[in-house]
Amino acid sequence: MNGAREEICIRGSTRVFGIFGDPVAHSLSPLMQNAAFEQAGIDAVYVPFHVRPQQLAGAVEGLRSLGIAGINVTVPHKENVLELLDDVDANARLIGAVNTILNREGRLFGYNTDGVGLLEALRAELDFDPADRRVLLLGAGGACRAAVAALSSAGAKGISWVNRTAERAQKLADEFSTHFPGTAFAVFPWDFKDPSTFPAAALTGVELVINTTTLGLKGENIALPWHLLSPRIRLYDMVYAAEKTPLCAQAVRRGCRAADGLSMLVGQGEHAFRIWTGVSAPAGVMKNRLLAVLPDKKHQS
Ligand code: NAP
Repeated sequence: MNGAREEICIRGSTRVFGIFGDPVAHSLSPLMQNAAFEQAGIDAVYVPFHVRPQQLAGAVEGLRSLGIAGINVTVPHKENVLELLDDVDANARLIGAVNTILNREGRLFGYNTDGVGLLEALRAELDFDPADRRVLLLGAGGACRAAVAALSSAGAKGISWVNRTAERAQKLADEFSTHFPGTAFAVFPWDFKDPSTFPAAALTGVELVINTTTLGLKGENIALPWHLLSPRIRLYDMVYAAEKTPLCAQAVRRGCRAADGLSMLVGQGEHAFRIWTGVSAPAGVMKNRLLAVLPDKKHQS
């Protein structure tokens, strides 16, 4: 059904869900959420809303006045939306960002499902449980905060960072070390350009590398020092693209297990679905819907 328009039956009783973002036209969430609503037999529709930063407060107020049942929030609103909500759960508060809002009779509740989506993706795609393991994170932006909270909560022994702006990663390390004294945090600067300047100490004991930077979105590679990495190391790239990301492709060529961010996108979406509807999303429906529009991914592993 690639490219075909699907019929969605909208009645007076249909509940409305959606996503706020700027831009939003590229979002795959409408495809996967509508497929899940349809398969689950839930009378609901999910639509994209292009909300610019100066319109965010008005758009959030609109959720109450229009009775929109739930919303995903994406770049650049995840942090700024926090203060506009009635309640934010402890995990989202720790991360400092909300990606899912539930409207309960006019009261807006904020959640963050990115971290749990990541943990599920690591388990399903890489057979990786962070408990007692060391992880290297590339990048220190918003998505990274969700990763740190999830990995630390899941009992990671150590998290090291490589970031272009070391101070940003250091701020994260200082903040999270007060919440998670059982996890050792270490920060290393690197400009992502020259593998010969990579701080080798950042790899000590590391079993998983996660790319949380935006590098790869436009096909850029990351010049990791592959000669220092064991072939047993696993790589998760939060970036997802129609084809394998350059980083994943390189990891696979080196014999490492690797996966890109599609599975995390599905995981965070399935959790949002459960928050909104109270039931689990039908198994495999969101992933299969995405694979139907990204046919090249079926051949990747
Ligand atoms: P963000 O807050 O803007 O952070 C971007 C990070 O990338 C920063 O640490 C930044 O380094 C680094 N970076 C950007 N350009 C760089 C360059 N040229 N060289 C070196 N480092 C560079 O973005 P975000 O919201 O965290 O999103 C990060 C990625 O995760 C995006 O690709 C997004 O699509 C993906 N993501 C995926 C999912 C999923 O479900 N799969 C969910 C959330 C996010 P500095 O600190 O030095 O600026």
